[in-house]
Amino acid sequence: MPSRVLFRGARVVDPASRRDGVADVLVEDEAIAAVGMDVTGGSNAVVVDGGGLVLAPGLVDLHAHLREPGYEHKETVETGSRAAAAGGYTAVCAMPNTDPVTDNAAVVMEVRNLADKAGLCDVFPAGAITRGLDGESLTDIGEMAETGVRLFTDDGKCVQSSRVMRLALEYAKAFDVIVCQHAQDEALTEGWQMHEGFYSALLGLTGAPSAAEAVVVARDLALARLTGGRLHLTHISSDESVQLLERDKARGPRVTADVTPHHLALIDEDLISYDTNLKVNPPLRSAEDRQSLRLALTGGVLDAVATDHAPHAVEDKEQEFDQAPPGTTGLETSLAVILTELVEPGLLSLIDAMERMSTGPARILGLDDHGGPIEPGRPANLVLFDPAARWIVGGTEHPFASMARNSAFTGRTLGGRVVHTMLRGTFTVREGEPTR
Ligand SMILES: [Zn+2]
Repeated sequence: MPSRVLFRGARVVDPASRRDGVADVLVEDEAIAAVGMDVTGGSNAVVVDGGGLVLAPGLVDLHAHLREPGYEHKETVETGSRAAAAGGYTAVCAMPNTDPVTDNAAVVMEVRNLADKAGLCDVFPAGAITRGLDGESLTDIGEMAETGVRLFTDDGKCVQSSRVMRLALEYAKAFDVIVCQHAQDEALTEGWQMHEGFYSALLGLTGAPSAAEAVVVARDLALARLTGGRLHLTHISSDESVQLLERDKARGPRVTADVTPHHLALIDEDLISYDTNLKVNPPLRSAEDRQSLRLALTGGVLDAVATDHAPHAVEDKEQEFDQAPPGTTGLETSLAVILTELVEPGLLSLIDAMERMSTGPARILGLDDHGGPIEPGRPANLVLFDPAARWIVGGTEHPFASMARNSAFTGRTLGGRVVHTMLRGTFTVREGEPTR
């Protein structure tokens, strides 16, 4: 007997097929078997009442730090996968700034094996651009590409050398992979604590100007044109960068970019609390920058929402502001932040939100099995969520599945809770609880 799950009467929001309406979806074993009205699952089907809930393709994250190998006191592939599932994700791209760095095929395989063992989320390890993230000596991009690595980045660091970046983009073209840049000029950001502007002066904290991002964005756009290599710019944070991207995209569709939920929701002014959970890299920018990012996401200049999930141990963040490492967790709050900050106020339609959080990032990573469409024969990678459910981040009612607690949204009330997450027909989250 095949195992059957019938999602009955949910609002199916599927960007890949542009479907947005109430329907039944039947899952049989690992795949979607039927979509439509009055679908019957047979006597052995588990029936899930989807009334008032949204059924969408499982979310896809282009940018998560799962910390293993090397930093298992912050997060592991297993706990990070659990956090991903809890947040509605069925696929995440794991950043390579681990210890050892994911700069060769052996570490790629190690991360994949850990993810397979956890079995909660598909994990796609990114490869480093340079060995040990040294910024100078290129990794064997071809070797890692052969094992299926699709995205290469030195994230956490920015590739400073124009020569190295040019070479990386040339290899990216040869092997049909993507170079993902954390755009930040080191010479302009020495000792930075927050965004450089009115509030850095007020709070007496060393600032990092938006220009530190923009000069690298401008350079890399020029190098992408020069080489024909595929460039992705991650966690774009400022209006200046958005304007450069907009101008470049008008010439052709080759470059893509993402933005984090925290840059879409929070600003430098919020740092008057000196809350170390709000110290992130790149820093939270001005209200004007946030507005520009929102419009760019709505208009498609920014292609995707990526969490930059950056878990830290409690003692890491319980230091003086200037000592605390940058980063916020994100996998468990991203959906609710986007729903609360963008969808509820009418800035972004629900189907476009799912495009930016699932279908778009799946397309960028070349993941055929994720991001929809929700159609018969497709792998059943799905999320069912309650867009109206309100909850307090970090509250006792909904403890984090991540090992870390450093959420920039701690204490805030958000709207939108994941009810079920399904990976190839198996529940990874059921009634809001991870199944393993
Ligand atoms: Zn980064």
